[in-house]
Amino acid sequence: MKEWKKNIRKVVPYVPGEQPKQQDIIKLNTNENPYPPSPSVYEAMKRIDPGRMRLYPDPSCRMLVNGLASYHGLDAGQIFVGVGSDDVLAMAFMTFFNSEKPILFPDITYSFYQVWADLLKIPFKTPALDEDFQIRAEDYYRENGGVIFPNPNAPTGIARPLDFIRDILDHNQDVIVVVDEAYIDFGGETALPLLKEYENLLVVRTYSKSRSMAGMRIGYAMGNPELIQALNDVKYSYNSYTMDQTALELGTAALLDENYFQSVLRKIIATRQEAAERLTQMGFRWLDSSANFIFAAHPSCDGGKLFQYLRDHGVYVRYFNSPRIDQYLRITIGTDEEMKRLYQVLESALYGNI
Ligand code: PMP
Repeated sequence: MKEWKKNIRKVVPYVPGEQPKQQDIIKLNTNENPYPPSPSVYEAMKRIDPGRMRLYPDPSCRMLVNGLASYHGLDAGQIFVGVGSDDVLAMAFMTFFNSEKPILFPDITYSFYQVWADLLKIPFKTPALDEDFQIRAEDYYRENGGVIFPNPNAPTGIARPLDFIRDILDHNQDVIVVVDEAYIDFGGETALPLLKEYENLLVVRTYSKSRSMAGMRIGYAMGNPELIQALNDVKYSYNSYTMDQTALELGTAALLDENYFQSVLRKIIATRQEAAERLTQMGFRWLDSSANFIFAAHPSCDGGKLFQYLRDHGVYVRYFNSPRIDQYLRITIGTDEEMKRLYQVLESALYGNI
């Protein structure tokens, strides 16, 4: 082996869902929103001045930070913003998980957590979800170097109530507890009210799902000013200009139209309910989802085969070939039209074509 090769970092990267090139694919594989962003974003887009691009963006991201602060009724000092919540979460790993003790996150969860832990050489343990795929609070009572989990969890979609978060926080006063609320707008109780009581809580959100802006890459964290300051210190030690000016402007504009936002959420939740009914009729078992996807398995049809059959028929869903979940498909809630096509292909698979 060439000597220089020994100094190359070896990592097993996170594998994002496929982004197919064909236009006619029904794309239910990466939990994007099937509806467009708010009209206020379209309006703001018209005001974007390309001439402004010769200048660096505002490194403090003041416009967006202030917009989010007033939206959530917090102080600007309680908000950190980044290039999607992946960026915010990676910063949080770097900033808060520096103990010799292992950090804790569930065995079945957002698979990026393990990738960041490996990349940053952070020891970790992954307590198993119970038989019903629920996170068990008791597993997080042991000594650790930090705690992170999504609520609702992914890819299960299961949300735990506020008392559960409180329980975890009560048992973890000496470490930072990160609650990843990527899907909270679709159901479940936010941990935000607990910010007043727990100085070690960080709540992370994204524009990628509920705000229909995955392509714009906007995420943010909320927590006590000391945590936010620490995140900013790490950010400025790494890359001061993380967010581009267009993202700052459009992200701020997106907050202006609450009615549109709520109507999109209502639509997706209604479609999710219908999906649960249709899947039940077809004999699927599914987990009770509070997210914009549904995690479902069929007792008499292999998950991997079903995934492939759907794919061959132009319907992309997400399949994880991992222990305990290899019979499940994670199906993003699309438009009613897209879902209709999904049901058709599922029916044809189940009625003997697989
Ligand atoms: N957290 C969870 C639980 C997710 O499923 C995702 C989406 N892949 C993210 C964070 C990251 O989303 P984004 O970087 O688009 O904000």
